Order: sequence, then C-alpha cells, then structure tokens
Amino acid sequence: MAYLSTDKVEHHHHDVIIIGAGGAGMRCALQLAEAGYRVAIVSKVLPTRSHTVAAQGGMNAALGNITSDHWHWHMYDTVKGSDYLGDQDAIEYMCRAAPQLVKELEHQGVPFSRNHDGKIYQRAFGGQSRAFGEGGQAMRTCAAADRTGHAILHTMYQQNLKAGTHFYEEFFALNLIMEDDACHGVMAMDIASGAYHLFQAKAVILATGGAGRIFKTTTNAHICTGDGGALCLDVGLPVEDMEFFQFHPTGVADVGPLISEAVRGEGGYLLNSEGERFMERYAPTAKDLASRDVVSRAIAVEIREGRGCGAKKDHVLLKVDHLGKEIILEKLPNIHELALRFAGVDCTEQPIPVQPTAHYTMGGIPTNRHTEVVKQTASGEEEKVAGLFAIGEAACTSVHGANRLGGNSLLEIVVFGRACGHRVMKWLSEHRYHKTIDPDAWKAGVNRVEHWLADDADKPTNIASVREKMQDIMQTHFSVYRTEDVMNEGVNAIESLHHEVVKTSISDKNRIFNTELIEALELENLMSLARATAAAAANRKESRGAHARDDYPERDDKEWMKHSLASILQDKVVLDYKPVRTTPMTVESFPPKKRVY
Ligand SMILES: Cc1cc2nc3c(=O)[nH]c(=O)nc-3n(C[C@H](O)[C@H](O)[C@H](O)COP(=O)(O)OP(=O)(O)OC[C@H]3O[C@@H](n4cnc5c(N)ncnc54)[C@H](O)[C@@H]3O)c2cc1C
Repeated sequence: MAYLSTDKVEHHHHDVIIIGAGGAGMRCALQLAEAGYRVAIVSKVLPTRSHTVAAQGGMNAALGNITSDHWHWHMYDTVKGSDYLGDQDAIEYMCRAAPQLVKELEHQGVPFSRNHDGKIYQRAFGGQSRAFGEGGQAMRTCAAADRTGHAILHTMYQQNLKAGTHFYEEFFALNLIMEDDACHGVMAMDIASGAYHLFQAKAVILATGGAGRIFKTTTNAHICTGDGGALCLDVGLPVEDMEFFQFHPTGVADVGPLISEAVRGEGGYLLNSEGERFMERYAPTAKDLASRDVVSRAIAVEIREGRGCGAKKDHVLLKVDHLGKEIILEKLPNIHELALRFAGVDCTEQPIPVQPTAHYTMGGIPTNRHTEVVKQTASGEEEKVAGLFAIGEAACTSVHGANRLGGNSLLEIVVFGRACGHRVMKWLSEHRYHKTIDPDAWKAGVNRVEHWLADDADKPTNIASVREKMQDIMQTHFSVYRTEDVMNEGVNAIESLHHEVVKTSISDKNRIFNTELIEALELENLMSLARATAAAAANRKESRGAHARDDYPERDDKEWMKHSLASILQDKVVLDYKPVRTTPMTVESFPPKKRVY
C-alpha cells in the first residue's frame, strides 16, 4: 500500500471544523469567525457551488409585509405540515427567530426583491395560513426573485471571507475521528492532488446537505450524496426518520430539475389531460398551494387513473402563461430559463410538463434543538455525542417531521447555523485544548481510498452500473405511494446490491483529480443511506406526511407517533424508535388533528 506512514498526512489544528460550505455551514462559520475562533470549512466543491445555490422560491418568516402574520401561525403551519412528527420545541425556536434572521441577512447584503413601499417582498407558498388555519392564505416567503438560495449563498461566502474563515475547497471528508465516544476531527483528501489531511478540532460540525441522489429522478445536484449521514453510520451512530423523503410535485417531467413552488405561489396552477384544475378536488381550500405531499399524491393519482398528459400519460401540466410575460420575467426569470432549457417550453406561452420528483431529505443525523448530535442509550435515554454537531439538510433537528413546508429549509439552515455557532462557543469555553489522539487515527480514512486505488483488475463490475441499479430500486420501491410487498422486495434488492459495492472497481487509478474515485466514495455513502431509508420505510406501518402507504392509508398516532432511528451495526440495518418532542418551549403544544387543506 502506498501510504504506510503518517509523514504523508498533513495534520491541521483548528478550533472548529465544519464539513460543508452550503448555507448552513457558512452561516455557522460566520458566527464563529466573527467571535474570533479559528474555524475552517472543508467542502468537496467550491463553496458557491453547494446545492443551496439552486434554491429558488425563498425563505419563510412571519414579517407580515403583505398579509398579516405571526410567528405562532408559522409554527402552527409547520407542525401541521410535519404531520405532527416535527419536534415542537425546535419548530418554535425556528419560527420565532425567523423575522430577525431575515433582517440580518438583508443587512449582510442579500438583495431581496421589494414591494412598492420598499419592504421585503413575500410570496405565497404551500401550507401557509393565517390565524391557525382560519384566516386564509398567508404570504410568508421572502424572495430574491426566484434565485433566493443563490443570493444567500454568495452573501454568506463574502461575509465569511471578510470574517477570516479558512476554506479547504475541493477536499473530500472521508471519515470521522472518534475516540472515547467523542469526535476529535475528520480525515479528508485534497481532490486536486490526492493528498491526505487530518483535521483535528475541538468541535466538528456536519453540514453536508441532502441525499437526493439515492433516487433516479431528483431535483438535487450530483453532489447531494448524503455524506454526513454516511460518516455517522460508519461509526455506529444512527440516522433519523429517513423514510420521510419529500417528492416535490413539480420537477420537469422525465429529467427532474425543479420548477419552484413560487410558480404556484404567483398564481400558476396544475392541469390534467382533460384540462381540469384537479387540485380543487383534493384540497378544496388551498388548492394548488396545499402541502407538497398532498399535491404530489394528487398528481400520482391523476396519472395512475389515466388522466396524465403526453404520449406516455406520465405527467401533468403547470400553467403559468396567464400571469403575463412581464410578471414571469420579473418574478420567475430562472423558471422561464429552466423550462426553456430542460422542457423546451416557453412558459410565457405554453404550460410546463411536470411530475413529482425526489427533492428533500427530511431525515438525517439526529440532533436536539441546540444542534448537538444525539444517540439513544440501551435504556432509551437520549445522550449527546461529545464534540459532534449537525445542521442543515444533513441534520434531523426535526423541524420538518414527516413533510417539509416549502421555504422552511433556507430558514432552517440560517437559524440553526447560527444556533450551532452559539452552542459550539459554549462547548469551546468548556473544552479549551485539543486532545492527544491516537497516532494511527489517519489510517481508516486512508484505507478507505487506497483500497479503490489498489490493483484489482479481476473485479468486473463498474460503479456507475451499481449506482444506477440502486437509484432504480429506490425510485421503483420507495416512491410517492408505497406498499408492503413492493417495499419488502426493495429492501431485499438493496440489501443484496450493497454487497456488489465491494466487488466493484474503478478504472482510473490516478491520484490527481480522480472524479471516478470520488464517485466510488459517494456510492458507498449513498448505499448506506439507501439501506437505512429502505428499512425504515418498510417498517413504518402507517401513512404520515411523505410516507404514504396504500395498505395502511391512515396515520396511526397511537403506535407510530415516534421517530425512527436506523443504524448499521455489523453490516446489518438495525431499527429503533424514540418519542416526538411535543412540548414547545413557551407556548402550548399543538395536539394532532386530521390534516385538511
Ligand atoms: C433545486 C432546489 C431548490 C430549492 N429551493 C428551496 C427554496 O426555495 N426554499 C427553501 O427553503 N429550500 C429550498 N431547497 C432546499 C434547500 O436549498 C436545501 O435544503 C439547503 O440549501 C441545504 O443547505 P445545506 O447547507 O444544508 O447543504 P448544501 O447547500 O447542500 O451544502 C452541502 C455542502 O456539503 C459539502 N459536502 C458534502 N459532502 C462532503 C464531503 N464528503 N466532504 C466535503 N464536503 C462535503 C458540499 O461541498 C457542500 O458545500 C431547494 C433545494 C433544491 C435542490
């Protein structure tokens, strides 16, 4: 093996290492860098290429700039949207903090769109109401045209450069360095040179984004491979609620790129092959602006019952031209471009063909509302994992529960990015020195890469075909509607496929910018998450939020109002459950009710 000694591994010491330069990682880094800590971000892509850049529609905050609004109504909508699986203490914290954080972003330089009176523009999004669902539609989503994530990410990057955050760009995190049940750092590889780096830190923060690439058709970028969750599974920690995967109702048919909910927020609506506004039947009040799980299921039913459009009758149409060219080009310029490029449709004249597409990972690394990673003890107590934090889409702080509301993720990354910064500062005040770690701590990470680079011409399979099979299985067996037989078949298929990974090889054995190697490492990560997702889904015998079963069509609060935890122990997926935190911080709990829109 080429790497036998530690000499070739560069050793760095930082107060804090953050893996991920999306909105979550960068908002957290900013908090720490401004307070004078030595904070570094490790990112596998250039920071401004993180998936946050693709976010379109906007970020929720009860500013009340257009309709009346209140953070408590926002909290109600989020708890209801989560199908009562969200943790209400974390949801209260997020919705209360939202207005202040939007204003803070504005002061940091985010160019929000404006109303005529100069205030921040807000649009309607799905599942938003006033007066606890009694006062009609709220307009709560703060937007910078339909490029809100782009605006936030670039602003965060500039603020971090100013604050002195250190960036290790195009470095791939390989594994966590855990000793005595605490996290002390991370091993990474510089993608450009293939060199190994050991980052030692007093606190490690996982901000690695979602895992949409476990599915075949997804709005997620190729880099959304759930690496943070996989790093946790590798060291025996669980992932939470992975069975809840959001299918966005309006991905461009066949190819997947997202057509933002903002289109329906601005007045666009869905049509079936009979030219009918079918959402009126499924959600008489909210219609096209019902929650995402509700709209995705409605589209799936329309297609299943033969009212799909096109030669294959496999999509529906999103009509937007009636808004007029001027509004479309001012408020939805990016959508106009995406529809042209991916569907060949000029949406100022024709409707856009759309279908439900894998979009958002509600599950992830379990944390409490302070963003500390937690696990379950054998006696069922929640225990913190010392030195390890998780934020953003990678985490399951459980503000989204079983179904996320549009506009709540950009909010989550900013709110909990900042909260994590605060919590880590407290941790650092109590843990002031780096620990002396095992001199062999670098080995596991190096071995993970070297085994792919070893001479293994006898291994026939290639990683692309295994990845494709995995994505096919997930798409076919764990889609919008699920049933026992189909899911069990899926679990068996994914369990046998995962053995294929060790039988695969890569043909490029170079160390310099070896993208095939990166894809192999990402495939390992995806496979762990796909296994956890499949097992947790097959075991949940109810319908809740994004997890909709034909054979168990009702929500079962008595048996199933609990979070799932999936671990991989001795190469087997092991499931456990923990209670939902139904008690908010200062207000009364919202008890479960039937969800109607
Ligand atoms: C097309 C699209 C549109 C969206 N629109 C909206 C919207 O309008 N409103 C809303 O609220 N939400 C929206 N979302 C969701 C939201 O954008 C994301 O959930 C959120 O931006 C995730 O931010 P993040 O910081 O957690 O992760 P990301 O922005 O995904 O960043 C992840 C980071 O982790 C790094 N990383 C990952 N693995 C490794 C590794 N192994 N080693 C090193 N670095 C690693 C990556 O380099 C990257 O920097 C949208 C999502 C998509 C896909």
